[in-house]
Amino acid sequence: MLLKGYLMDKKEASLFKEILIKKKVALMKGIEHIANDTLKTSQREAAGDLSAYSLHMADMATDNYDREFSLRLADNEQEIVKRIDTALEKIDEKTFGLCELCNKKISKIRLKAVPYAELCVPCQEKQEKKKK
Ligand SMILES: [Zn+2]
Repeated sequence: MLLKGYLMDKKEASLFKEILIKKKVALMKGIEHIANDTLKTSQREAAGDLSAYSLHMADMATDNYDREFSLRLADNEQEIVKRIDTALEKIDEKTFGLCELCNKKISKIRLKAVPYAELCVPCQEKQEKKKK
């Protein structure tokens, strides 16, 4: 049973909205930064200037690994941005803070730590066990 709007008052909802938007902005900046960094490294390599990191990154494989790692990190952050967008929609629909599996309230403590959480702690744990 879904009791729309019972979860939190307007003040609390707008507080979470603010947290989510701030988090999103920070993530977007981070993604941009990683993208720029990766681009710069590629340009430097293309120009044949390896002096800046020839000492500790003489091994090209290591460098490639680092770049892949950065891109994966950006992927991960983009995923979180998507989840934040979903959470923001849920605030407007007044279903924010409800577990997607069992429809129970997600604890406030959890929401404060992970405001874009889709699942409550017990469901999350069940999901993680399934993956293993
Ligand atoms: Zn649940």
